[in-house]
Amino acid sequence: MAHSGVQHEPRPTHDATGVIVPLRLREIFRGRNRVFKIVEELEVVQHNLHALKDMEYCSQMNMAEVLRDFKRLRLRIAQGLPFSPCQCRANAVCEICKGRKWVNATQYLLLPHPGLGAM
Ligand SMILES: [Zn+2]
Repeated sequence: MAHSGVQHEPRPTHDATGVIVPLRLREIFRGRNRVFKIVEELEVVQHNLHALKDMEYCSQMNMAEVLRDFKRLRLRIAQGLPFSPCQCRANAVCEICKGRKWVNATQYLLLPHPGLGAM
């Protein structure tokens, strides 16, 4: 059996903007992907429930509110997840990431985005 003996690098991990994250943040963003999968599973559950909305056994349920709750829950989970590495320097005291070196979607909007100012 042919074996190259080459240690394969684990697949690169990307942030929410599609950029490969630094090695030291890889596990964090893998965890993000794990939880994001759960968010997608919640969406499937939400759609399955919605498909039953006209059944008599769902007639006494406030389906619109239930679906809103699902949407809110998914958003709340997704918003807390790692979105992108922070842009602060290695040893900088950073008010945005507080030393985590990654930011969620809300914190991401606080980072300087070069190019946007020129619009
Ligand atoms: Zn930072």
